[in-house]
Amino acid sequence: MAQRTFSIIKPDAVRKGFTAAILADIERAGFQIVAIKKQSISKEQAQGFYAVHAGKPFFEGLCAFMSSGPLVLMVLEKENAIADLRRVMGATNPANAEEGTIRKKYAESIGQNAIHGSDAEETAAFETGYWFAGYELI
Ligand code: GDP
Repeated sequence: MAQRTFSIIKPDAVRKGFTAAILADIERAGFQIVAIKKQSISKEQAQGFYAVHAGKPFFEGLCAFMSSGPLVLMVLEKENAIADLRRVMGATNPANAEEGTIRKKYAESIGQNAIHGSDAEETAAFETGYWFAGYELI
């Protein structure tokens, strides 16, 4: 059965002009784009989104980075979407990412790693609801 996941093309990749290339990789991997919007977010909005990481040493830098420029928020759908997007993304640290993955191709550091993807059904539900209203997902 089709599953949905939530994803962000992060500000580093948008800034470098990789939005279309990353979207092409995502579509080539079999995902349908259910909803998509480009916008800037505040530091407070980033802190709420990443609340699970509050208190970690990289938290402040992560929230400053995510609010440093426009990003692209997306809901994606396919069978096994959550696990499959994580595979297409590659490891959190691009230095450890497999050849051909989005992070290997477009990311430069663990802090600025081009793409976010939900890691479980519960986080996908929280993250989707954080950024999208129900009427945007029909
Ligand atoms: P992801 O699910 O692969 O995005 O990784 P996590 O959920 O563990 O972390 C969320 C985000 O926080 C990552 O994508 C990174 O941008 C950032 N992050 C995680 N660990 C580190 C770290 O050790 N150093 C820095 N600078 N950023 C980190």
